[in-house]
Amino acid sequence: YKAKSSRGGHHVYRSEDDSHGDTRLRTLQELRLAVTDDQLVVYYQPKINLRTGEVTGVEALVRWQHPTRGLLLPEDFLDLVEESGLMHALTRIVLGKALDQAVLWQHAGHALTIAVNMSASSLVNVEFPEEIVRMVTARRLPASALMLEITEDFLMSDRDRARDVLSRLREAGIQIAVDDFGTGYSSLSYLRDLPIDELKLDRSFVSPMADDARAASLVASTIDLAHSLGLRMVAEGVESSVAYDELARYGCDHAQGFFMSQPIPALELERWLAARHALEPGSADEIRLLP
Ligand code: C2E
Ligand code: MG
Ligand code: MG
Ligand code: MG
Repeated sequence: YKAKSSRGGHHVYRSEDDSHGDTRLRTLQELRLAVTDDQLVVYYQPKINLRTGEVTGVEALVRWQHPTRGLLLPEDFLDLVEESGLMHALTRIVLGKALDQAVLWQHAGHALTIAVNMSASSLVNVEFPEEIVRMVTARRLPASALMLEITEDFLMSDRDRARDVLSRLREAGIQIAVDDFGTGYSSLSYLRDLPIDELKLDRSFVSPMADDARAASLVASTIDLAHSLGLRMVAEGVESSVAYDELARYGCDHAQGFFMSQPIPALELERWLAARHALEPGSADEIRLLP
């Protein structure tokens, strides 16, 4: 097990706990309860079109509303979820909640694409693509309203399998994004041959842009390469107006980051959308998080 410290100071499981079998057992039981007792919640982070300023979609990000430890972040519990074989259950729960929310937003007139993160282990299940498609159609949502965020390690682990899974999802109309792009070992030439819609440039490339010209030019040329392969580029971790403006200048398609909004509960996102809608389009305040 990897030692992990969390931003919030609390933790569920650390390597030191290895000597305390009790702690691990308790955590596992708690984790099962999180799944069966509906303690997982989904936060949403908006994604902005850098050309129009429109909010085009949201990314669904899981949180664990722990009965005594408060709201836990993915880094506090996802490794253990994976190791205890509960990832498939978690993926199904998050997907179900996100799609239910997508239906509500659609009825409220918000045309938002919902992006859901997929662990490589979930996609290895051969039945899963069909199950995902059923979950979408059962809610009468257009398949294109769902985007799946996959990681480079899934693409690289078994290329034939990855191509097969992605093709089946894509044929059904579901969109595919490659998350944390640039941190793995996939090459753009390999990605060109896969049914992929967009790349999400990892925030480790985006954060240093504001004060490092070389980092900025690397981002600019990666955007151009993605476009030459017919892929949209999304920048993650946009934390400043400088980064936002530069990305727009480089022709980056979409942006996500704390500068616009942190991940927030669905109700807060609706308030955020309403407040944003009330502003002058293109005004300086439109792009940033409102008080
Ligand atoms: P990710 O998919 O790359 O999601 C983006 C992460 O970056 C989120 O962390 C988000 O809160 C954070 N972030 C967004 N904008 C900024 C920014 O401007 N600055 C900084 N410093 N961070 C920013 P979060 O929610 O803690 O999620 C962490 C990771 O956990 C995700 O990374 C994803 O890999 C995984 N994850 C989250 N939800 C799920 C899920 O439902 N299923 C699976 N399999 N993985 C998930
Ligand atoms: Mg993601
Ligand atoms: Mg990401
Ligand atoms: Mg990331």
